Amino acid sequence: MSFAELGLAPGLLRAVADKGYDTPTAIQTRAVPAMLGGRDVLASAQTGTGKTAGFVLPLLQKLDAPQARAPRALVLTPTRELAAQVAQCAREYGRHTGLRIQVIFGGVGLQPQIDGLRAGCDLLVATPGRLLDLEDQGVLDLDHVAHLVLDEADRMLDMGFIHAIKRVIRLLPAKRQNAMFSATYSDDIRALAARLLHDPVAIDVAPRNTVAERIEHVAFKLPKEHKRHLLAHLIKDGDWHQVLVFTRTKHGANRLAEQLEGAGIRSAAIHGNKSQSARVRALEDFKANRVTALVATDVASRGLDIKELPHVVNYELPNVPEDYVHRIGRTARAGATGHAVSLVAPDEAGLLRDIERVLKRPVPYAALPAFEIAAYAPPPPRPQPQHAPRAAKPAQRHGQSAARGSSRARKPGGQGSGQARRQGAGNFPRGARRH
Ligand code: AMP
Repeated sequence: MSFAELGLAPGLLRAVADKGYDTPTAIQTRAVPAMLGGRDVLASAQTGTGKTAGFVLPLLQKLDAPQARAPRALVLTPTRELAAQVAQCAREYGRHTGLRIQVIFGGVGLQPQIDGLRAGCDLLVATPGRLLDLEDQGVLDLDHVAHLVLDEADRMLDMGFIHAIKRVIRLLPAKRQNAMFSATYSDDIRALAARLLHDPVAIDVAPRNTVAERIEHVAFKLPKEHKRHLLAHLIKDGDWHQVLVFTRTKHGANRLAEQLEGAGIRSAAIHGNKSQSARVRALEDFKANRVTALVATDVASRGLDIKELPHVVNYELPNVPEDYVHRIGRTARAGATGHAVSLVAPDEAGLLRDIERVLKRPVPYAALPAFEIAAYAPPPPRPQPQHAPRAAKPAQRHGQSAARGSSRARKPGGQGSGQARRQGAGNFPRGARRH
């Protein structure tokens, strides 16, 4: 199947070719013709399946000639990162169409977005809160929206946007085409779909959680205060160059990024308290391999499009097991295999069991490799001051796997005898014993 066979117009085909894509993905093969035919769509698709082009391409075609007045198509996304990515994608695919694409999201000044809307718009990509703000202020006319897409609808509900979504829907003309994309299905999602969609074409290209099947899942059980040391060990000993690490809190993300920096690993944190420019910069540094570890909260990571991300670490397990699926959806794109590591404190064991139930497969515990409890990041409750002489605190070792002698990437000036450091090998994951 080619893009031309999907019924796309020449300008869009050129843009697709410009991007170097020659074969539509499974979701594109199904969603594009359905939406071009005017049908409502309910698609189960994760990030990485090509879902964005799956709705952006037919929307652009439906909009046809530019009018650049009030928006005629609206895409709602849960986060600003995703809104920016969808708008970017729409601008790329729409580059030969003359259609005007605007994006609005919170956390940045209103005025440029107001100016953008006043300049005219065909397709609008928005997060719900800012959209309603601008509508309240009377600068946004939603009376001409004939196509609505909810992207990552499950995430929008998780983030408490249900009332905002319902309000937006009430502001739109009744006669319109609707599409909903969601990585997971809960009862709430089904209820929203039943309310929003009329006789939808159901598309389930990746039956739920298949990404999970292409990924090697492994868990380590260890005390919370040892997690950062194990993580530093895994990154250095495994020679990882790009790892996305999930924490539960913004504060935890900041602290871990600092601790990893302290262990000589280039790190950045990305979460909702960071300015938009700081988030963009962190993501760019990560993509360009200037940063090894990107520490993120679930919300901030949503929709991140990072090609060929080999390692995802759940530094803390998510409270909602579906979030595990979202997290690992960042790795193992496009048929590649990925690696998802969970660091499980004793009080998180129940959360791991919930995750296994959602995945419908076990996540095995591996034997801990030997790793240093290094002096540069001492465990609580009595942290050593940063300037404490390092020689004052000998390194401890944790773990029981066989020593195999790699001293690679140890922090210069780190603690313990060279022998002890060399014994911290545990060549993860091949040497890890499953049980
Ligand atoms: P998405 O699931 O929309 O986040 O897309 C994931 C990645 O796949 C993005 O980097 C897209 O640019 C890329 N992509 C989308 N469609 C195709 C295609 N037909 N062939 C190859 N890559 C694609």
